[in-house]
Amino acid sequence: MKYYSTNRKAPLADLRKAVVKGLAEDRGLYMPERIEQLPKAFFDNIQDMPFQDIAYNVAANFFGEDVDPDALQDIVYDTLSFDCPVVKVTDNIYTLELFHGPTLAFKDVGARFMARLLGYFLRQGAGAVCGEAAATNGTVNVLVATSGDTGSAVANGFLGVEGIHVYVLYPKGKVSPIQECQFTTLGQNITAIEVDGVFDDCQALVKSAFMDEELNRHMMLTSANSINVARFLPQAFYYFNAYARMKAMGKADQLVMCVPSGNFGNICAALFGREMGLPIKRFIAANNANDVFYNYLQTGQYEPRPSVQTLANAMDVGDPSNFARIYTLYGQSHEHISQLISGATYQDEQIRETMRQCYNETGYTLDPHGACGFRALQEGLHEGEVGVFCETAHPAKFKEKVDDILNTDIDIPARLKAFMEGEKQSVPMSRDFADFKRYLMQR
Ligand SMILES: *Cc1c(COP(=O)(O)O)cnc(C)c1O
Repeated sequence: MKYYSTNRKAPLADLRKAVVKGLAEDRGLYMPERIEQLPKAFFDNIQDMPFQDIAYNVAANFFGEDVDPDALQDIVYDTLSFDCPVVKVTDNIYTLELFHGPTLAFKDVGARFMARLLGYFLRQGAGAVCGEAAATNGTVNVLVATSGDTGSAVANGFLGVEGIHVYVLYPKGKVSPIQECQFTTLGQNITAIEVDGVFDDCQALVKSAFMDEELNRHMMLTSANSINVARFLPQAFYYFNAYARMKAMGKADQLVMCVPSGNFGNICAALFGREMGLPIKRFIAANNANDVFYNYLQTGQYEPRPSVQTLANAMDVGDPSNFARIYTLYGQSHEHISQLISGATYQDEQIRETMRQCYNETGYTLDPHGACGFRALQEGLHEGEVGVFCETAHPAKFKEKVDDILNTDIDIPARLKAFMEGEKQSVPMSRDFADFKRYLMQR
C-alpha cells in the first residue's frame, strides 16, 4: 500500500517511510491510497469473534501488504493486551470504555501499535529510510514533547521495545503529579527530560533537534506524533469491537457513534472504519468550548482559532490536524461531511452538570471528556437509534476535578497507583537548544 499526502505535493510513501517519518515532506498528513471493504462474511460473524481477531482482520486490511502476517498478528495481539468493553449507561446509550490500557486513556492503543510496528521495521533495517543516519548505531530515538497525556501514552507504548529509545520532554512544574509519574518512573529505554520552561519550549527543542543536521548525522531521530498513520489507523480496531458487542445484543441496527474530539484522530479512525464497511449509521463529534469543527459543520467555513482552556483539556485544540484527513476522505464536500457527522459543543458548566446528572441518575462516573460524548447522545439521538460514546480516559486521571464536581472520593486503579509509588527519575534541562544538543551528542 502506498500513502499520499493530504497536500498532494510530496511523493508517495510506502508504509515504512510513512511510519518512520510521520509527516510528509510537504507537511501534509499521510493517507492510504485505497481503503478496501472487508468481506460480508466478516460482518456476518463479527459478533462471535474476540476483539483481537477482529482487530487483526482490520489491521491486515491496511497493513497486510507491508507486514508479514505472523508478525502483524503478534503486533496486534501484543498491542491489545487489554479489553475495550462496551458498558450500558442508559436504555439507549452505551459507553465504549477505552481506558483499560496501561495509562488509562485511548491513546495507549495507537502508541502501543506504533511502537511495535516501528520495532518491526527496525529489525528489517529501517535505517535506509533515514538516509545518512543509517551510519549510527541502529537505535531509533523518539523525541516527544508533552503537556501531560501524550508523553505517558508514548513512553508506556514504547517501554521495553528493542532498538528504540524515547526522550519525553515536559515542562517543569506544569504537569500534574499523576501525569508526571507515568513517564518519569519507567526507566529502561525511557528518559524523562524536565525542561525549565513551558510546553512551547519543549516543542521548540524537539523541532530544533529534527532540523539540526549534525545531530541527525549523529543519531536517528523520529517523532511519535498522533498524526502518524501507525498511531491513528489502529484506533479503528475498537469501533469494530463496539459494533460486534452491540450486534451480539441485537442493538446495532441504527448505531450512532459519538466521539469526544480534539485533534480529530480518534473520530477519523472511526470514519475509516465505516469506509471499510462498518455499519455505523452516523457520527457525532462532541467538542468542549473549542468549537472550530462544530462551526465548520454549521457554516462550511473552516476557521482555526487559538485554543481555550477547558475542563476537558485533552480536547483543547483550536486547529485540529486531522481535519485535513476528513476533508480529503470525503472529497472536500461539506455536504457529505455534514450529512454523516453532526456536532455538539459544551461549556465547562454544562460538562459539570452532565457529570453530576449522569452520576446521580445512573451511577456511572464520567470523566470530563466522556461527559461531552454522553450529553451529545442524550440531546442528539433520534427515535430508534442506539448511541455509543467513547470514554476516552478513566475518571481517576482527573481525580481532583471529578471528586470536586461529584463530591466523591473515587478509587485510583491499581496500575495508576503503581506508577505513583515508583521513583521519579528525570534529567534537568534548560530551554536553550545548545544544552539539549550537547546532551544528545553525548548519547
Ligand atoms: C487525546 C484525547 C482526546 C481527543 O482525541 P483526538 O483524537 O485528538 O480527537 C479526548 N479525550 C482524551 C482523554 C484524550 O486524551
